[in-house]
Amino acid sequence: MRAVGLHPDVFVVTSRFWQTTCTLVRSGDEAFCVDSPVLPDELEILPAVAEQAGFRVVGLLATHADWDHLLGRYAFPEAPLGVAESTALRLRNEPGDAQRKLRDFDEDNYMERPGPLGLPGAQVLPVPGVCDLGEQALELHPADGHTADGMAIWVPWASVLVAGDYLSRLEIPMISSGGSLSAYLATLNRLEPVVEQAAHVVPGHGGPIDGTRAAAILREDRTYLEALRDRGADAALPLARRTGAQKRIHADNVAAVAA
Ligand SMILES: [Zn+2]
Repeated sequence: MRAVGLHPDVFVVTSRFWQTTCTLVRSGDEAFCVDSPVLPDELEILPAVAEQAGFRVVGLLATHADWDHLLGRYAFPEAPLGVAESTALRLRNEPGDAQRKLRDFDEDNYMERPGPLGLPGAQVLPVPGVCDLGEQALELHPADGHTADGMAIWVPWASVLVAGDYLSRLEIPMISSGGSLSAYLATLNRLEPVVEQAAHVVPGHGGPIDGTRAAAILREDRTYLEALRDRGADAALPLARRTGAQKRIHADNVAAVAA
């Protein structure tokens, strides 16, 4: 697990698995933990990492309801979870889905957890809207399209955008779990002016990047999605993201768009 400081009030840990990111944001003596690392040892050490950095975690946020972003309670079992209404709806409509997928992942990879994943009722946050943290406020932006739900979190005093599963340098746009191509494009357009003023962007996978690089990835992703819409399977993948794994995601996207 890698930890990178982006600002005195923001640091990001990147999981060894899928390079899933977890962002800690602080104002005054309160901090939020956004999303989560995946591996049990990473979640076990996270409270000590946060404490050592002087971040007192009082709440969890999840950018969306995919299981790999929902594991923060293993690290901070007392902290309430805040999500967009779209995410709360997905958690309600798909009861046990995250737990089931986590269990399958753990069984496939011989992972052991201290217990089952507890996800008691999440608090619904206003999206678009703001969420108070200490003496500051986070700005919440709708970010659906990858899935049916989602929010991106702008930290204005640090110029950091926590994007959820968008703008990854590793992963092409992925349309899954009720997501849609048109919603994905709308989210990219909505996030573009925010990305343009960002010092750093934290994608859901692949570690933090600077705002200029994120803006370039945003343009590549839009080009790919427009090609996917117009040419289906023949759409060209972004140059730096053409691995076998990305070709499989592309094939899934073609099927999702056709469905
Ligand atoms: Zn993800």
